[in-house]
Amino acid sequence: MAVINQLQAQLKYLDTLDFYRRKFQQASVDTGKVKSLEDFQKLPFTTSKEFQAEIQKPPSGCSLYSPEVTRVNLSPSGQELYPVYQTNKDLEFMHQVCARSLKAAGVTPQDMVAVTFGYHLFIAGLFYQGQFEYYGSKVIPLGPGESTRAVQLINDYQIGVLISNPTFAMKLAEAGIPSVHTIFVGGEPFTSVQGYPEKVRAAFERDITIIDSYSMALCMPIARSCRHDNGLHIMDEFVYTEVIDPATGEPVPLGEKGELVLTHLHKQAAPLLRYRTGDLTMLENKTCACGRELTMPQSVIGRTDDMLKIKGVKFWPSQLATILRSYPQFSPQYRLVVDSLKGVDTLSLVVEGKTDDAPVLDKLATHLKSETLLKFNEIRITEKLEDGPSVVDKRKGRSF
Ligand SMILES: [Zn+2]
Repeated sequence: MAVINQLQAQLKYLDTLDFYRRKFQQASVDTGKVKSLEDFQKLPFTTSKEFQAEIQKPPSGCSLYSPEVTRVNLSPSGQELYPVYQTNKDLEFMHQVCARSLKAAGVTPQDMVAVTFGYHLFIAGLFYQGQFEYYGSKVIPLGPGESTRAVQLINDYQIGVLISNPTFAMKLAEAGIPSVHTIFVGGEPFTSVQGYPEKVRAAFERDITIIDSYSMALCMPIARSCRHDNGLHIMDEFVYTEVIDPATGEPVPLGEKGELVLTHLHKQAAPLLRYRTGDLTMLENKTCACGRELTMPQSVIGRTDDMLKIKGVKFWPSQLATILRSYPQFSPQYRLVVDSLKGVDTLSLVVEGKTDDAPVLDKLATHLKSETLLKFNEIRITEKLEDGPSVVDKRKGRSF
């Protein structure tokens, strides 16, 4: 079904839920009149604040809850826990979509799988357990921690596929887990950090397949890489994605950075409509041998709530931490000072790190320029950064 037809069907369903019906009424929107993607782009956004306010209501008073819900996970945000609702139909469709990506990852139903994410309250452990079971693989719900026992079980059962955060996977690899040929990583920035895949492969001392994913508790899955290593493909039969200019709300062209906006195409419980993630990314169309096209080449590279305009260029300071993670010599801590000299914006960056070697600094300067399209006037290394704001915008007297 063409994406617009699926969106129309989903809008018809959303119209039956108080939360969305109120939004449509407030914006004087007639969902029956949405005939094209251009029409769809005029619908109101959903902010995390309004979604959280609704989802936190007890199920009896929450219009995002459905009596058909069969699974309730809880997801932390700050000090609060928010429910994540799934119906059987939601779970089945989620597993179907994931099964396609497991095939693209090169996993087979004969594979033995171990999941080291948590199973209580949070969503990640059961999310992986369910999709591999649906696919027909054999799954051990290992759970987090207890690395000695994990290594023993992985070896006893000749586990081929390991689900883990990259740090834990490297720790297990150093203890020796020769049967593992594929790892699914999550829980830490990975694709966005240059050199991280090489570091993990070095710990395994062989060329394993590494699959990275991007999801949010409210929307699982969103994107996942395949064995051809072409970036993270959007699961576009599950979620409709837009990238917008966070300041104007207007769509940006493919290949340009902006805020990711999500709409579920089928979901029954707690569906998202034009949900603003606050995540900074970029999409591109890239034909891959696995059959997918729409791709996030670098996964998520920062947050959009801190956007600055420098020399007329959109700049997100949180990208800096992502870039710095590619350098073992530096920590992701930085202080950025934006100023204006004779009407021209200037950027000076102090990075916490152990080296001020000229070649490393040159490499960092080139890297910063290619990622941000801005030339930094000064880059300085310090052993320890004092506590304080990481961004000081002297032009506006603002720091954060
Ligand atoms: Zn692919």
